[in-house]
Amino acid sequence: MDSQGFREAAAASIDEIANYFDNIGSRNVVSTVEPGYLRKLLPSEAPREGEPWEVIQADIEAKIMPGITHWTHPGFHAFFPCANSYPSILGELYSSALSGACFNWICSPAVTELETVMLDWLARALGLPECFLSTGPTRGGGVIQGSASEAVLTAMVAARDKYLRETVDEGLAEEEREERVMVKRSRMVALATTLTHSSAKKAALILGVRFRSIPVREEDGYALTKEGLAAALAECRAQGLEPFFLAATLGTTDVCSVDDFAGISEALAEHVPAAGQPGEVWVHIDAAYAGAALVCPEVQASTRIALLERFHSFDMNMHKWMLVNFDASCFFVRDRDWLTKALSVNQAVYGNKASDGGLVTDYREWQIPLGRRFRSLKIWFVMRSYGIKGLQDYIRGSMQMGEEFADALRARPDLFEIVAGPSFALTVFRLAAARLEGEGAVSAEEQNAMTRALYERANATGKIWLTSTNLSGKFAIRLMTGVRTTERHHIQAAIKVLTELAEHVMKDRDL
Ligand code: PLP
Repeated sequence: MDSQGFREAAAASIDEIANYFDNIGSRNVVSTVEPGYLRKLLPSEAPREGEPWEVIQADIEAKIMPGITHWTHPGFHAFFPCANSYPSILGELYSSALSGACFNWICSPAVTELETVMLDWLARALGLPECFLSTGPTRGGGVIQGSASEAVLTAMVAARDKYLRETVDEGLAEEEREERVMVKRSRMVALATTLTHSSAKKAALILGVRFRSIPVREEDGYALTKEGLAAALAECRAQGLEPFFLAATLGTTDVCSVDDFAGISEALAEHVPAAGQPGEVWVHIDAAYAGAALVCPEVQASTRIALLERFHSFDMNMHKWMLVNFDASCFFVRDRDWLTKALSVNQAVYGNKASDGGLVTDYREWQIPLGRRFRSLKIWFVMRSYGIKGLQDYIRGSMQMGEEFADALRARPDLFEIVAGPSFALTVFRLAAARLEGEGAVSAEEQNAMTRALYERANATGKIWLTSTNLSGKFAIRLMTGVRTTERHHIQAAIKVLTELAEHVMKDRDL
């Protein structure tokens, strides 16, 4: 393909993509293909001769679309959103054109410098404490990671390194220190809660450190409390274990609960070395989804975001609920030296005058991989195209739809029961126990089975897609209203579908 061919192919592709979005609501949300469908449609080998673009492009609709689940469909209420927007797609386009493995500043100074500025813009927009800005008082800063899972792993690597540096004498002879480090490593434990995303446990698995999840309770709104953390710290002490890391959450995956940040600080102050002292517990705040809502000052206030200055790292995915394409996980630390001390490994081939002079940021020292893409471009395009106000309007709109959905459930107590939320545009609900109980003995299993029947029938319509969760044995349905294309009338349609199906499920039971 030459440049003229590219112009024509790109115009045809952009046209098709715009049409896709214009008509996305008419498709089934979830793909209905059978496993292995695509192999049957494709030749077993790559073509010997190159094919014309028209032929290739035609296969998008014919072969790929049937196997696509449409995450930007207005009826997509599953998991959390995986965002995109036109400015972001344009950012991806330019990023592919300016391809490079920009691990060091000199590999493309604009890639590094735009990222630093964008993450400062984002930190300001979210109201994060100054310590997370690259210009802040503690030499903090942000870096784009591929995912929240990568961010928690990176945080845990840095936390482990920091803990060992602070608690094992660095003046010891190499072998003796290595021995002590190994003994200590066997006692180190990372903490999280039963509702922390599984990526924290995976990080501990990868690092080979112990992991404990602290139970959270319905009566505490599924949040980690001071008492819960204090009990876990005491238990660790009794077992001779050394907590070095805590993954706390702003917006858990199951119910969007927010851990008690003030309580966490108090429990740590009472049970482990105080903040800033050697051996302190590193607190990582995972705000993968709900962090986007911090763009609204009222959410900054209600979540008491200023308290985060006591913690060590924070991560949110712009690619979930902030209109930026996957991947853009924005990871902030209070002191960038914690990352670079843990992750700098030199190799002669990467040396250059700028890096050696220490005047520039080399993001390869802030992450696990070496190479990195130009991801800040799409952030720049989105933040400029929407402006802070546009982002706030979008987030508030999602949350308003969540409130309206929950109100509709509350209006039918004979059918529905809210288990959690609405919180950050997520409502978790099940079929009502009240009516079932009124009709005689209904086991918890039966309520679960009927809720599951509603869930399966709703998803079988193809018009909406929901996911479920299990909270201490309670099967519940999650409905999220954060997708960019979702509007109020889509939510009203979802309520109608769910109400009719719930009535049927209830009736079926009566028969
Ligand atoms: N943390 C939370 C709270 C999440 O909800 C998720 C995924 O939905 C993750 C982490 C993992 O995100 P990622 O796919 O970016 O690793």
